[in-house]
Amino acid sequence: MPARAYLGLGSNLNSPPRQIKAALKAIAKLPSTQLIRCAPWYQSLAVGPGSQPRYINTVVAIDTLLKPRALLQALQQIERQQGRKRIVRWGPRTLDLDILLYANQSLNTRRLQIPHPRLGERNFVVLPLADIAPELSLPDSTPLARLLANCSPEGIVRLVTTASGGRTE
Ligand code: ATP
Ligand code: CA
Ligand code: CA
Repeated sequence: MPARAYLGLGSNLNSPPRQIKAALKAIAKLPSTQLIRCAPWYQSLAVGPGSQPRYINTVVAIDTLLKPRALLQALQQIERQQGRKRIVRWGPRTLDLDILLYANQSLNTRRLQIPHPRLGERNFVVLPLADIAPELSLPDSTPLARLLANCSPEGIVRLVTTASGGRTE
């Protein structure tokens, strides 16, 4: 049985919309994995050291037979293919792919924590997640709706997809 997982995507370097599009394609091609839904895109101000370009963020739902560790490795490979360099923590990056949720599992190892530990405090994760899975609850039964209610709209705008497929603010 495949597991329903939610992934967070973010980019603030080297044409973020292009990076996100390429990442969606690569995720759809992962082995034993189906792309189920893509949230709208958001533009958000960077959190982290120094002043950085704004981010494009979104979330996708996938069904996958990959186990969490294998999924993380596959996502890190996509990050590397798109030129991700790990220089400073929370520094600017071409592509960041995080596992937000994996079925109803909780995992707490050095290399992988699920749910993503900072999920609830990030509007650029909570907003797109709620767009595609408003009824979701975390493994500890916290409803996503509660995180959404506590989520500040500061520093984030939803990008509107036009009929031609372009995006505007
Ligand atoms: P943040 O974790 O706060 O979003 P980040 O995405 O910038 O920060 P990275 O440098 O991309 O952090 O990743 C650091 C490490 O986080 C990875 O090498 C990976 O082992 C670990 N990690 C732990 N839990 C997760 C998860 N749920 N999804 C992705 N990576 C994770
Ligand atoms: Ca991240
Ligand atoms: Ca990451």
